[in-house]
Amino acid sequence: MNATHAELRQFPVQDDCLQIAGIALTRLAERVGQTPFYAYERKHIQSRVAALRQMLPARVHVHYAIKANPMPALVQMMAPLVDGFDVASSGELKTALDAGMAPSHISFAGPGKRDTELRSAVAAGVLLHLESEQEMERAAHIGEALGMTPRAAIRVNPEFELKHAGMKMGGGARQFGVDAQRVPAMLRKMASLGLDFQGFHLFCGAQNLSASAICEAQRLCVQLSLQLAECAPSPMRMLNIGGGFGVPYFPGERALDLAAVAEGLHTAAQLLCSTSPQTQLVLELGRYLVAEGGIYVCRVQERKFSHGQVFLITDGGLHHHLAASGNFGQVLRKNYPVAIGNRMRAGPREMATVVGPLCTPLDVLAEHIELARAMPGDLVVVFQSGAYGLTASPIAFLGHPPPLEVLV
Ligand SMILES: *Cc1c(COP(=O)(O)O)cnc(C)c1O
Repeated sequence: MNATHAELRQFPVQDDCLQIAGIALTRLAERVGQTPFYAYERKHIQSRVAALRQMLPARVHVHYAIKANPMPALVQMMAPLVDGFDVASSGELKTALDAGMAPSHISFAGPGKRDTELRSAVAAGVLLHLESEQEMERAAHIGEALGMTPRAAIRVNPEFELKHAGMKMGGGARQFGVDAQRVPAMLRKMASLGLDFQGFHLFCGAQNLSASAICEAQRLCVQLSLQLAECAPSPMRMLNIGGGFGVPYFPGERALDLAAVAEGLHTAAQLLCSTSPQTQLVLELGRYLVAEGGIYVCRVQERKFSHGQVFLITDGGLHHHLAASGNFGQVLRKNYPVAIGNRMRAGPREMATVVGPLCTPLDVLAEHIELARAMPGDLVVVFQSGAYGLTASPIAFLGHPPPLEVLV
């Protein structure tokens, strides 16, 4: 191995066992009552949000994108920590409202919103991020039918791309948002419809570890929005410039330089404030807030040898954690950080491949990775698993039982 994972320090080790929220992993597994399971640590997530807030300009609002981890208890914990929630389905809208977030601090994005979704969003009073001209018309009709004025922002598909993003979601032909050059006409149309214009939403991409690329995109987002706002029927009150803050998953990746991002954001916020002082700047973050505070835990069922290689066959796999198997958007499969949670430091080590019980060669959690020599009954831990885990996985595939989730 030439590139290794950055040392993971978010969870301490005691008596050779990983500790989550001060509880030994072996004991936590007993408390959960089964493997596999996801565990999310409150303290880690809370301090992540606090550290972010301390760095960012105070006037920038931080929203949590529920898609990253919609576990109701976690979303509830998040509600008082952030300024708002971003949802992208009526299921997520329900989770956000149930968690006690004020509707005025919830925004609803996503292409192809159904009339039933638009209706409940308008009835709830949340902000619609309009993804097309047709959606604007439908929202206006629904507002009329309900005798309400829907609050609406336009999601813009800018001309520029977010460089170095793991997943690009803006620039060129996209299913997201409205092409920037069509937005002025849409704004003029909006003036004649019964909609309350709030501002713009731009989300260029996700999983970015380059502070300079993020800063450049944020600056361009502010500039473009200020231009577009000149055609708006009323002042721009809100500008959501997305986020895309990445977390290190793979060997050789380094954590995002948050100080550099914060500096760029200060500049962007100043630019916005000098021209449009009434505009609230919003960041929406998913994985950056929750990914590193979560682990996925499964148990070794069998050690198997094939052609001189060790396979650890576990009770977990891609049906629970698609991203760790490399099948959630990765082009070349790379290993998530993995360890034997009850043999963290001591004992012999070996190269092994960790797989699940599914009858498909895709069911790999870690390939040729150096681990403590594990025995049946040992606990395999996949780190960086607090986002895009359970709900981003095909849990019905092959009919095995689903994992549990705990917030500790
Ligand atoms: C998925 C998504 C997010 C969250 O992305 P992360 O990479 O988890 O930060 C934020 N905003 C929108 C519009 C999204 O689609």
